[in-house]
Amino acid sequence: MNRFSDRVDRARLLMAERGIDGMLLSVGADLPYFTGYEAMATERLTMLVLPVEGDPVLFIPELEAPRVDYRDGMFEVRPWSETEDPIGLVATSVSGWRRALMGDHTWASFVLGIQDRAPGVRFGRASEITGELRMRKDESELDALRRAAHAADRVVERLREVRFAGRTERELSRLIGDMTVEEGHEVAAFGIVASGPNGASPHHEPGDRVIEQGDPVVVDFGGRMDGYFSDTTRNFVVGDPPEGYEEAFAVLLEAQTAAVEAVRPGMTAESIDAVARGVIADAGYGEYFIHRTGHGIGLEVHEHPYIVEGNDLPLEPGMTFSIEPGIYLPGRFGMRIEDIVAVAGDGVERLNRSVRSSVPVQ
Ligand code: ZN
Ligand code: ZN
Ligand code: ZN
Repeated sequence: MNRFSDRVDRARLLMAERGIDGMLLSVGADLPYFTGYEAMATERLTMLVLPVEGDPVLFIPELEAPRVDYRDGMFEVRPWSETEDPIGLVATSVSGWRRALMGDHTWASFVLGIQDRAPGVRFGRASEITGELRMRKDESELDALRRAAHAADRVVERLREVRFAGRTERELSRLIGDMTVEEGHEVAAFGIVASGPNGASPHHEPGDRVIEQGDPVVVDFGGRMDGYFSDTTRNFVVGDPPEGYEEAFAVLLEAQTAAVEAVRPGMTAESIDAVARGVIADAGYGEYFIHRTGHGIGLEVHEHPYIVEGNDLPLEPGMTFSIEPGIYLPGRFGMRIEDIVAVAGDGVERLNRSVRSSVPVQ
């Protein structure tokens, strides 16, 4: 049995348990999770109808059909021509259903059309089931995440030799993107470069600011490799750091280390957040840590489980997520340390191994 049919079987078990007649999956990561095929995000509908029993059918624009790997008949492929109505085809195939789940990222134009044409069906979010399955990674997924993390680590190593001063944030971001691909990713997904006071904005958009002597620089980047993402944040300092930087950084490093070391099966997601937040708050920086501690990662950069207060999900082996506390002092500077970790049988595996202390650069 291949991994795709195994995933379909597990989804069906959950659907049967919960009285769900089937799932409708379009753009986003759920479809490739079950089929290996990723839908084109266009106005032409691609949708897998996955019933709790019976053959799954992939409705796909005729011109995209040659891209589909048929997976030995695991699902039927039904190409639709330019003059056919795909909404009608999907609506017909769900006739008689009462409860269905729709992929969370499905375009509203399709969702509304299908709801209109299938008035007897009550829809929920597919993540009710796919979130649960996708957050427990199998060995092949863990391997893919490890390879991606190690490729990102190689980029960090190369950055130590790069001259920061005199470049704009945007130039450095472009360079990081190139390195991300050179080190084996298919694509660079994002590359935050936030220098000096810009570092106080966690998702700063790299701009025209020229990096200068005395700037701390937050670098947060990642890419996609064999379908799975890397995501890591490191901190660089050009020359002497500004006043207060080193004290705050020591607190952040302690918080991040403590949170990573607290990860093991049975701990809740929110308790990991509390560990990082506790260290930072005890040192007096609590109000400057303005986001959750982490997010799951896999076929998407952000997915379940979220490491945040209020999430009492117990961690299980195979779960993968970021641990990325930060301290952001408006008008001055910011800092964040981010590693991807995997919950192991008896503790934690840190997938990123590059240097976590702040790195002096030219
Ligand atoms: Zn982020
Ligand atoms: Zn990140
Ligand atoms: Zn992240």
